Amino acid sequence: MDATHMGKDLEKVLYTEEQIQDRLAELGQDIWRDYEGKDLLLVGVLKGAVLVMADLMRTLPGSAPMDWMAVSSYGSGTKSSGVVRILKDLDTDITDKHVLIVEDIIDSGLTLSWIRANLESRSPASVEICTLLRKPDAAKVHIDCKYVGFDIPNEFVVGYGLDFAEQYRNLRDVGTLAPHVYS
Ligand code: 5GP
Ligand code: MG
Ligand code: MG
Repeated sequence: MDATHMGKDLEKVLYTEEQIQDRLAELGQDIWRDYEGKDLLLVGVLKGAVLVMADLMRTLPGSAPMDWMAVSSYGSGTKSSGVVRILKDLDTDITDKHVLIVEDIIDSGLTLSWIRANLESRSPASVEICTLLRKPDAAKVHIDCKYVGFDIPNEFVVGYGLDFAEQYRNLRDVGTLAPHVYS
């Protein structure tokens, strides 16, 4: 499957590469306005946030370190249950640091709500969230998310880090899959 063929598997494009980059640049400005001079640590959640992290952090006009967590969420099929296990923990001691969690998407919010509580228990100076995408109609718990790229309808999307069975993460746009891909 090459990049050209991947595009044909989309039913519709929600955001193009260019729209994503423009929005990340705006978020980067907001983030730097809020965190300049503070001990900021960007924390990405593997694997979906890899591309958001790479592009967002390069919009920042100054240096900021990153670290990564990997979690698995127990649930039936594609639904998240909120019961989370840490597969890879941070390398960094976040005591007194200003943590900014970088995410690809907030769906039910259950996973992120668990991650946030877990990080808050480690005595950081603060914990905030930046997500490229959010599905307000899918929320099962309220999450304060300080930086949101785009609110989207409650549909399954792929691309720009988001996968379907580990495929399509390298698609440059974000879109919904065509029905023929599922069958
Ligand atoms: P939540 O706990 O918020 O329901 O979901 C967390 C994770 O589910 C996200 O980080 C993402 O990995 C996955 N997820 C949720 N919605 C979508 C979606 O529309 N497309 C893809 N590819 N993954 C999603
Ligand atoms: Mg994610
Ligand atoms: Mg996934």
